[in-house]
Amino acid sequence: MSNNNLEASEWTVFRGTVIHSTHEEAVVPLKDAILGVRGSQIKFLSESVGGNIDDLAKEYGFNPKDVKHLKDGQFLIPGFIDTHIHAPQYVFTGTGYDLPLMEWLDKYTFPTESKFSDIKFADRAYSKAVKRTIKHGTTTACYFATLHAKAAVKLAEIIDKAGQRAFVGKVNMDQNSPKFYVEKTENSLSETKWFIEQMNERQYSRVSAVITPRFVPTCTVGLMDGLSDLAKTHNLPIQSHLCESKNEVSFVKKLHPETSYTDVYNDHGLLSERTIMAHCVYCDDKEIELLKETGTGIAHCPNSNTFLASGILDVRKLLERKVKVGLGTDVSGGYNPSILDAIRQSVGVSKLLAVDRENYSPISYQEAFRLATLGGSQVLGLEDKIGNFEVGKEFDALLIDTKCADSPFDTFNDEYADDLMDIFRSLSSLVMTATSGKFTWQVKRSSQGSNGS
Ligand SMILES: [Zn+2]
Repeated sequence: MSNNNLEASEWTVFRGTVIHSTHEEAVVPLKDAILGVRGSQIKFLSESVGGNIDDLAKEYGFNPKDVKHLKDGQFLIPGFIDTHIHAPQYVFTGTGYDLPLMEWLDKYTFPTESKFSDIKFADRAYSKAVKRTIKHGTTTACYFATLHAKAAVKLAEIIDKAGQRAFVGKVNMDQNSPKFYVEKTENSLSETKWFIEQMNERQYSRVSAVITPRFVPTCTVGLMDGLSDLAKTHNLPIQSHLCESKNEVSFVKKLHPETSYTDVYNDHGLLSERTIMAHCVYCDDKEIELLKETGTGIAHCPNSNTFLASGILDVRKLLERKVKVGLGTDVSGGYNPSILDAIRQSVGVSKLLAVDRENYSPISYQEAFRLATLGGSQVLGLEDKIGNFEVGKEFDALLIDTKCADSPFDTFNDEYADDLMDIFRSLSSLVMTATSGKFTWQVKRSSQGSNGS
């Protein structure tokens, strides 16, 4: 649809409270804002409009009668971005935390992921996983699927139907994996090529392929080189894991004694401005520098880092060194598919780091909110499209209703002068109850009118 052919009726204009992040300020609350969307694109955002709706209507050509006035207690925020989630692991979320990463993979993850050779099972499981992330306000996600290319295509179909924006990766593993869940190098590459072709044929507007070597331990150098070639040929992003746990880092040291974990990826052409590396807890200063130089983004997954007892990422250090950081749920190393939970946990683990460090400034909830929105958009290379309400971006938003029926928290506007930021702060801490599924999210996109709530 060409923008020139849009009628006045294709405007969606909101008036009310809008909260988002910019590079300058972690949280910008606009109390009486007017936000104009034409088709799916944000055309204007103006603060404290007073009585000038008619002037804006004349300037932009929308009907002032159609303006949607947000109710008291409602506000708009950008959609949450999950930069790292394993869709197949949703089926065993919340179980298996008796073991650390490497043993956890062998005992729980690989047997479960191997079941996705059954396309009917994959369909059922993926449908539930995607629906659940949308319920938690994730409008964009970067998914790992499994080794099975057909099931990965199915996942992409489900996401497209649900109206979510996503990257989907067929996982690659050709060594150090169980017999029932491993590929031959050539098959791994040819199946990935087939997957990319299928995705290209389908031409989804918001769902595309991402090259997905699981991590260095399960990938030969031949496989990594082949995947790097595929990423270059098809101009695709790359996702993987890096320096998640101490045992994993020692294992990689045995496989590649001459070099650092981060260098292994770089030596095989897998670090770029379009690479997303999950965790990075144990990267040393040189490795952090390499991540910055190559433009690699980091998916910080605090829930998983805690529950697999992997470690604590020093996000402050990464932000000071200007490395791109977003938040991920890492379901099901993380037990919670909610990015709101990731916001809270990222603040919590950062405060734990501060306990034994003098003059350490833990990240604030405002900064965590920015990681979950604008930061995620940078990590996924989507900053020109989503992440905040800058003019020119797509309208990708959550309508938060703090007074909805069964709201898991109460406000006291009349008796206790809550100001907007108090309410917003409450939102950041309400994740404990948000997991009960009672909190109502409305996920709305102006184009295609897809709704998930
Ligand atoms: Zn992961």
